[in-house]
Amino acid sequence: METTITPLGGDVHEIDTRMAGHTGITAGYLIRSDRPCLVEPGTAGSAPVVAAALDALGIGPDDLATVVVTHIHLDHAGGVGAIAARYPSAEVVVHEKGARHLADPTRLVRSARRVFGDAFDTLFGDMTPTDAARIRSVDDVGAIDLGGGRRLETHHSPGHARHHIGLVDSATGDLYVGDAAGVYVPETADVRPATPPPDFDLDAALASLRMFAGLGPQRLLFAHYGPVTAVADTLDRSAEELRIWVDTVREAGDDVDHAVALVRERTDPRYGITRPGADPELAAKFETLSSTRANVTGIMHALSGGTGR
Ligand SMILES: [Zn+2]
Repeated sequence: METTITPLGGDVHEIDTRMAGHTGITAGYLIRSDRPCLVEPGTAGSAPVVAAALDALGIGPDDLATVVVTHIHLDHAGGVGAIAARYPSAEVVVHEKGARHLADPTRLVRSARRVFGDAFDTLFGDMTPTDAARIRSVDDVGAIDLGGGRRLETHHSPGHARHHIGLVDSATGDLYVGDAAGVYVPETADVRPATPPPDFDLDAALASLRMFAGLGPQRLLFAHYGPVTAVADTLDRSAEELRIWVDTVREAGDDVDHAVALVRERTDPRYGITRPGADPELAAKFETLSSTRANVTGIMHALSGGTGR
C-alpha cells in the first residue's frame, strides 16, 4: 500500500488519506505524542491507507490512544468504524451532536447515498458502526490528553456543520480547522467556501472564524488540504469568500442553475484553480470533494431559513 506521509514538525505527521484514490484532497494527521492521536481518519475506503501510514510511523494496533473527527461528514469520519476496529485501545472523540451517527451510521449513509447516488461507493466506501462504549462526546469545549502534559483542546465551531469542532494543540499552537475555514488548495493558495446542506449557517460560520482567530493559533491544519502559516490572512480570506458566495446566491434568486452560473462567473476569476489557463484536473479533483452546486444548494437552504435536520 502506497502512503504519503509528510512530517510537519512538533511530532505531527500529515497523512494523505486519498479519498477515492485522489491525492492531495483529504488530509489526516497523526500526533505522535506519548498518547498518539489520529485526527480525521477519512473515508471508509481510506482506512487501509491510514493503517499502512500508521504502520510506517510505528503505531501498532495497541498504540493509538485517540481518534478524533472535526465533524461526521463521510470524508472525515466514514472510516472511524474501521479504524476503531483495528485499534482497539483508541477512544473516539466527536461533538455530542454527531456521536449517535458514529454508533449508528444508517441515517448518515442513507442521506449521503441519496445525494451522491451511484458515486457513493467509489467516493466513500461502506461506513461501519463504532461501539458506543468507545465514543466520548464533547460539548462547547473539551480536552484530549496527548500525554506528557500535552493536550488537544476542542472548540465547538458550527457553521459548516452544526456539530463541527476545531482542535488546538497546546504544544504547537496548531489549529485543526476541519472544514470550518473552507477548503484550502495548496497548489494555488486558494481558499474556497465549504457550505453544503443541510447545516450551513453564515452567521455561525463567521462567528466560528472569529473564535478561531481569538484562539491565537500558530498554524492552521486544513483537512482539505494541509498546513498554512498565514493564519490571520487566511481566516480573513475565508470570511470574505463566504460573504461573496452568500451575497451572490442571494442576488441570484431561487433558481439553482442560475445561482451556480452566477457564482462561477463571479468567483472563478478569484481562484488560481479556476482562472483561465489553470490545470483542469486540479479543479475537477476539488470539485469532486466540494462542488459548487452543493455549496450553492447549502447557501440557498440557509437563506430560506433552513436550520439543519
Ligand atoms: Zn470535508
